Amino acid sequence: MDLKAIIRDVYDFPKKGIVFKDITTLLMHPKAFDQSIDDLCQPFQDKGIELVVGIEARGFLFGGAMARQLGAGFIPVRKPGKLPADIIKETYSLEYGSDTVEIHADAIRLGQKILVVDDLLATGGTAAAAVKLVEKLGGQIAGVAFLIELDFLNGREKLKDYSIHSLIHFNSE
Ligand code: AMP
Repeated sequence: MDLKAIIRDVYDFPKKGIVFKDITTLLMHPKAFDQSIDDLCQPFQDKGIELVVGIEARGFLFGGAMARQLGAGFIPVRKPGKLPADIIKETYSLEYGSDTVEIHADAIRLGQKILVVDDLLATGGTAAAAVKLVEKLGGQIAGVAFLIELDFLNGREKLKDYSIHSLIHFNSE
């Protein structure tokens, strides 16, 4: 199945000039969703992944299903103020301003093997911040997986020390 063809481009969302890659058209298609989870998990099947870290919000959709398939637990990385217990946070810069992500301080034990998941790799700031949170807690990054990578934004540069698995590549907007 051609997963790339099922992703919808929405122009000028959330602001003018952005081409938003809408994955809801993939999620609602049972075979496409199933195949995307299989393909995302494939390189990590025998790697002893203990925990999948999913990034809010669309990383939850893929990360949750992947955790189940890999026999791993799931940890959410969330936007500020959403997690109820003690957290640690990481702030990263955007084109204008900055953003912050948080994780529960007791989510990971030293040396646990972690797979970080999000729907899309753009500039790489979000995923790199999630990776930092995992490492601050003593987790060992086994890989970083994305459904979609926007190659032209060169986000993998920020993750160059890690094994990156992206299913679908866009070379231009
Ligand atoms: P970045 O930190 O620049 O790699 O941005 C990645 C995050 O922003 C991911 O959580 C994506 O869901 C979201 N994102 C960035 N650009 C797009 C886009 N063109 N279409 C859909 N989501 C995007």
